[in-house]
Amino acid sequence: MKTMTCRELGGACDEYLSAQTWDEMVKKMTNHVMAKHPDVAEKMKKMHEQDPKKWGKEMKPKWDVAAEV
Ligand SMILES: [Zn+2]
Repeated sequence: MKTMTCRELGGACDEYLSAQTWDEMVKKMTNHVMAKHPDVAEKMKKMHEQDPKKWGKEMKPKWDVAAEV
């Protein structure tokens, strides 16, 4: 299990999100921004439309170095 903050994932608050896998983290973060930060969700959606891999490319290395808890 790894824990990252919303902000580390490009979000807008310091809430902790934890997941077993990167895919699970992506889902949690997506749900979190849609529920809490509609403006960030909108930005991520636009980013995804321009380059579907951009967000993952930027955020995945942070997941890789995050400590297992
Ligand atoms: Zn947040």
